[in-house]
Amino acid sequence: MPIRELPDFLINQIAAGEVVERPASVVKELVENALDAGSDQIIIDVTDGGRTMISIIDNGSGMSREDLLKSVKRHATSKLPADDLSNINFMGFRGEALPSIASVSDMIIDTYNGLDSNGWSLDCNTMTIKPSAWEQGTRIRVLNLFAKTPARLKFLRTDRAEMMSVVEVVKRLAMARPDVGFTLNNRWRFPRGQSLSERIISVMGDEVQNRMLELNDTSNSNGELSLRGFISEPTYRRASSIDQYLFVNNRPVKDKVLVGALRAAYMDVMHAREFPLCALYLNLDSKSVDVNVSPAKTEVHFLEPNRVRGFIIRTLRDKLSQTMVNFENNQQPQSYQSDNHSEHSSFLMDFKNNFPSVHASKPAFFETLNTPVLGEISVSENVEIDRPLGRVIGQYGKKYIIAESDQGLVIIDQHAAHERIVYEQLRSHTIKVQPLLTPIVVNLKPEQVAAVLEVKDELKTSGLVLDQFGDTSIAIFEKPADWDLDWTKLLGDISDEVLVNGHSSQLHEKLHLKFANYACHHSVRAGQKLDYAQMDALLRDIETTERAGQCNHGRPVYKIIKMSDLDSMFERI
Ligand code: ADP
Ligand code: MG
Repeated sequence: MPIRELPDFLINQIAAGEVVERPASVVKELVENALDAGSDQIIIDVTDGGRTMISIIDNGSGMSREDLLKSVKRHATSKLPADDLSNINFMGFRGEALPSIASVSDMIIDTYNGLDSNGWSLDCNTMTIKPSAWEQGTRIRVLNLFAKTPARLKFLRTDRAEMMSVVEVVKRLAMARPDVGFTLNNRWRFPRGQSLSERIISVMGDEVQNRMLELNDTSNSNGELSLRGFISEPTYRRASSIDQYLFVNNRPVKDKVLVGALRAAYMDVMHAREFPLCALYLNLDSKSVDVNVSPAKTEVHFLEPNRVRGFIIRTLRDKLSQTMVNFENNQQPQSYQSDNHSEHSSFLMDFKNNFPSVHASKPAFFETLNTPVLGEISVSENVEIDRPLGRVIGQYGKKYIIAESDQGLVIIDQHAAHERIVYEQLRSHTIKVQPLLTPIVVNLKPEQVAAVLEVKDELKTSGLVLDQFGDTSIAIFEKPADWDLDWTKLLGDISDEVLVNGHSSQLHEKLHLKFANYACHHSVRAGQKLDYAQMDALLRDIETTERAGQCNHGRPVYKIIKMSDLDSMFERI
């Protein structure tokens, strides 16, 4: 068959296959054009999920007669004046959208640039241009989308589903530009001139108010990466990634580097199947990122993905640990402290011996677990009420510890609290280690032995000291105190992880999770009766535990009910 050059309409239809997948992509391209034209008010109307009509009205620069005619030509753009693909400050730059959309629909453009004596109207089917009474900016109407290409029409989902995609696209663009007003079908309204936090509430809903943590513009050490925005506190999350808004140089993206970094940052405080909410804006030199990956442009290529990832994880974790309630250095026990061994202090020794951990320093809770329950002891008067979590009043339902503090009535989930403590100790390597008189010998397959030995040093930092003991076994010499686990299973699991993942940074995260799981199983169970000293020790331990506000699955560890809340509950005010 002879080679022939394809006619323009066919070339455009082929290109449309890439650029214009569905109504939502048409909306995206046209709204991006409106933004590029400097509009600050954009009105979008979509009928039948975009199948019959999409109309976009903007108040931007408009076009001259000449530009209007050029705008629907292939690869015609006003956005690359310097022929430099690496320096892109506009949302679009390929000059493909208008000709592609025109090739698969009936498109009519009305526009006025405020300079000529009148506006112009272009029917893209017939390429007939005529004067128009259009007064400001541009209106583009896309009618009968895909009517000319029935094969594509068949791929559309229900009108409702297509409309949902349109809403999603508009929300993402609205989050990119809180200063610009957007109206979609007169139903979704994001007013012009909002601050980012106001826009977040308009887009995500009123209920996110007070649940988002603000990230002030943070840069890395040499200033080439910066991140700002809002992230949800760990107890606030969604079942899907729907409310994760990510931007690179102000362009909405769904990039796996960013999504992965976000997940990793929350790893310690949120279950893997739950999703934090966020509006995160990453800015970096346009030379370090290629946004030119796909026509749909939701993916980007970073020159140094690991740097970007590391920077984001660090910045987010910093924020999360700052804002988690952290009582460290906040309150030290004040009473019963003595510099010398006076009578007074020896009396104290007795006191402590009787009530082992009321004022003993860390680690307290684990020790109390091994002491017999002392029965009813009323030492509560001796404990300072001004401790952050206050003094224990009692236990409810063998599940919750009730305490009173200056702040109010404190209710602590004992299981979540203990889990947090164990996990933080593991993480910060302050786990108490117990040397074993007789080593525990675990039998494994030779390759498993080799794998475990590879991560010997990592395991040591988690309180597990071990070494090879013949070809098919490992001897454990030290273990985390109070931990009596199925060591064969733990080491087997760990070796599998090493064999699957190799010695990578991922492996470290995986080991972390593994330990977290064991921490969880080992934790004081809901339903376990605790005595006063145990409860007190648990509270004191939480006060010195980093990020104590959540268990490592993101559930809250405690809640404080203020006196004023109780008063209003009882209608006293
Ligand atoms: P690109 O946006 O990549 O340049 P398009 O095909 O989307 O390509 O648009 C072609 C050109 O038409 C743009 O470069 C711009 O000059 C002009 N244009 C498109 N939409 C508008 C609009 N809403 N207001 C003003 N000019 C527009
Ligand atoms: Mg464009």
